[in-house]
Amino acid sequence: MAESSFRTVAVLGATGSIGASALDVIARHPQRLRAGVLAAGSQVQALVALCARHRPDHAVIADADAYAALRDGLREAGLPTRAHAGAEALDALVAGDACDTVVAAIVGAAGLSSTLAAARAGKRLLLANKESLVLAGELLTAAAEAAGAEIVPIDSEHNAIFQCLRSRQALGDVRRIVLTASGGPFRGRSRASLEAVTPQQAVAHPKWSMGPKISVDSATLMNKGLELIEAHHLFGVGSDRLAVLVHPQSLVHSLVEFVDGSTLAQLGLPDMRTSLAVGLGWPERIDSGVGGLDLLAQGRLDFEAPDTDAFPCLRLAWQAMEAGGTAPAVLNAANEVTVSAFLQGQIGFLSIPALVEDALAAQPAEPAGSLDALLAADAQARRFTEQAIAQRRIRA
Ligand code: NAD
Ligand code: MG
Repeated sequence: MAESSFRTVAVLGATGSIGASALDVIARHPQRLRAGVLAAGSQVQALVALCARHRPDHAVIADADAYAALRDGLREAGLPTRAHAGAEALDALVAGDACDTVVAAIVGAAGLSSTLAAARAGKRLLLANKESLVLAGELLTAAAEAAGAEIVPIDSEHNAIFQCLRSRQALGDVRRIVLTASGGPFRGRSRASLEAVTPQQAVAHPKWSMGPKISVDSATLMNKGLELIEAHHLFGVGSDRLAVLVHPQSLVHSLVEFVDGSTLAQLGLPDMRTSLAVGLGWPERIDSGVGGLDLLAQGRLDFEAPDTDAFPCLRLAWQAMEAGGTAPAVLNAANEVTVSAFLQGQIGFLSIPALVEDALAAQPAEPAGSLDALLAADAQARRFTEQAIAQRRIRA
């Protein structure tokens, strides 16, 4: 293999679900891939264990108070890995020589700064952190374009679309992009029956094994709403060329319909290592550890329309996308706060859409010309929603 195709990878969110899948694929290809930087939020022990296994040059913990524990843990394990702490240290490592490829898999808007740093530095950006696109999609894609950063979407739907288009930009010959959705653990249930569902039930996804936040987003269908906005930015298509189709088997990962009537789809088992292998190997295909698809054994592929009465988050996201400006940032921020409160048992499941709707109503869309304007809208929506939860101004 040519020397130039060797990639040194920074895995941001290394201790998470996507991080584990990325490291699994990287470890399969010692001749072409190496983890150079591993970063996590606050789990020092898990990060040290990953360093022992993958031998990166640098390890970064977001929580500054955990720096000494990380440094000592690495030293006690006899590892040469250098310890760092805080968001600025992470951004500098992402932008510098320590990596040429970045797996952006921090959960939530907390991932925006490092994702932007990777784009601005012209890195190959394997983008799982969909919240950064929802919050600042135009700025992020413009930064990537200006610096020549190649974005490969990792979200399975967008990775499927990327494979069908063989690029990131949809052209005039694309009539429609159809995102598939599993429907989550509560598919087919009425709105009333969702009143008392527990966090444990909500995170028990029938098809995908994922972190807690995106699992709740899948249960409310907000995940598909965030993905609509993500697709809008990644592929440069408006809402008139986007659609959502529920597909409970999660084998067809999305479809692209062209003007000649052709529809291309990407199929595969629901395992994120496929998307990550596409991003790590692109334009070549490399082993991901995922088996092939036996359609005869699977039996059937079903499709149905999404139920936006039971799952209003999809409708709210669609409205925020069409409103544009600061609206997607408000949607995302209110959603992050409510999902966290739901996971902590502070609010019920139906309060998630109710509170997101309240936040959107309280903060009408304004033009979002700068990162500061978007971050201000994000902060305001968080404050508003936190207060609403504290005051139990919950309608649902
Ligand atoms: P997860 O909760 O399993 O992992 C999150 C990771 O982010 C952890 O390593 C955590 O330590 C780190 N982290 C959290 N806050 C941080 C901070 N402030 N600074 C630095 N690191 C921080 O989440 P996940 O399921 O792996 O999802 C990660 C991202 O990928 C999300 O944006 C999610 O929407 C997206 N995504 C995930 C999947 C999936 O299958 N899990 C699929 C598509 C997209
Ligand atoms: Mg997805």
